[in-house]
Amino acid sequence: MEMVDQPHVVMISVLLQGHVKPLLCLAELLSEAGLFVTFVNTHHNHKRFSNLPEITNNLPNLHFVSISDGLPDDHPRDSFDLEYFFGINSATKPYFKELILSYLRDNSGDAPLQPRVSCIIADGVFSFPIDVAEELEIPIFSFIAHSARYLWEYFTIPKLIHGVDDHDHHLLPSDAMPGFELGRNDLPGFNMETLNSPVVQFLVGESLAMTRTSGLILNTIDDLEASCLPYITHHFRKLYTVGPLHVLLNSRVGDRSQLMASHGSFWKSDQNCMTWLDSQPSRSVLYVSFGSVVKTSCSNLLEFWHGLVDSGRPFLWVLRRDVISDGKESNGEIYEELQKGPKERVCIVEWAPQEQVLGHSAIGGFLTHCGWNSILENIVARVPMICWPNWGDQSINSECVVKLWKFGVELDAKDRSSIEKTINTLMGHQREELQLGVDRIAKRLEDGIHEGGSSYNNVEMLVGDLRKMKL
Ligand code: UDP
Repeated sequence: MEMVDQPHVVMISVLLQGHVKPLLCLAELLSEAGLFVTFVNTHHNHKRFSNLPEITNNLPNLHFVSISDGLPDDHPRDSFDLEYFFGINSATKPYFKELILSYLRDNSGDAPLQPRVSCIIADGVFSFPIDVAEELEIPIFSFIAHSARYLWEYFTIPKLIHGVDDHDHHLLPSDAMPGFELGRNDLPGFNMETLNSPVVQFLVGESLAMTRTSGLILNTIDDLEASCLPYITHHFRKLYTVGPLHVLLNSRVGDRSQLMASHGSFWKSDQNCMTWLDSQPSRSVLYVSFGSVVKTSCSNLLEFWHGLVDSGRPFLWVLRRDVISDGKESNGEIYEELQKGPKERVCIVEWAPQEQVLGHSAIGGFLTHCGWNSILENIVARVPMICWPNWGDQSINSECVVKLWKFGVELDAKDRSSIEKTINTLMGHQREELQLGVDRIAKRLEDGIHEGGSSYNNVEMLVGDLRKMKL
């Protein structure tokens, strides 16, 4: 049977929405190109996928399986819980190894027909798939869902630590920062205290582990990260910059792209906000979303609420049920307050179809936490931004948007009045200038995804390389 001779790519991402979604886009692209793809979820995430049947019905080459992450069902799996985060490698590795071994066994007899696994593509946040691939002698590629610049920070950190003798000296040497196109003082978190923290040290280790693979796949685009890519290339056997994956996928699946946009969502999108947007004037609405992970205090959310209402602008706010960091008892307070708002210009949902929202003509600005997926989706939709970075890669993403690409303003959310002022700066006198900025960047991005562009070519190259990898 022809199927058993196909190359079989096993892909795995275990934790966050912002990682699973682009990896799933890549899975869909590879299966569209005729590769046999198995997408591995943890049981926990698998149950949360909002529309698996639509994907599997449309893509006969794409298969889903789920494995245990080694934790009981009722474990909170809070990514801010360091014990949980650091324990994922050892907890999940045995289950992944068992799965891969099952794909290597002889397919004769009554066993289900499937090709032998020919390679693995794994989210680079955790190194356990690399260990498994090495033990079983299977080629592996790492995938990263954040920017190349952020990865480059983790390659630069060990050099910085070794290069600084005086540990009381909190400023780092200025010549140690090639590749960022940003000044040292614009690079967030670069002081000795954060460099030596357990989280940073863990992420440095996982980043360096990726250099053991056959190559690195990045959801980014050459032109926007040209300053650091030559440095990164040096550390890897092969580099594939294939972003933004959601756009490349949409352009290949045409009519199915709307359906694809919500693939891999852990929450069901509330489509009512699209009808509400239809009733709003062109470029008038501020879209507000803090992504899938960021949490903040109830009092801070209330300041946001008042700042948004006081701005006088219509707004669409994604308010996840789990966004409040300081206890369930605060939920009631904020939701009660929100009922008092001016209903005609406020729409609040728990989860939005973000790509569709950003593409709607009523949207005039995006107040965001600066997750990398949100940045890419925003550039494609050409919307000026207000940046409110919180942790991880969000700060460096925000610096790029504000200082380098110049299509956003930074928000210091200290109180309702500063929030209101920043909103009116973006939606008012600076809008035109920021619009020109995002149009410029969008043009550079679009050049890379058309036929012959860097990302387009790199997807072709990746597919070609994976085809050759039949075991
Ligand atoms: N997203 C969505 N609906 C929402 C909020 C977010 O579909 O209401 C999607 C968004 O389009 C993006 C992802 O969730 O693809 C969030 O990823 P990002 O990297 O921006 O941030 P993270 O959640 O990882 O912090």
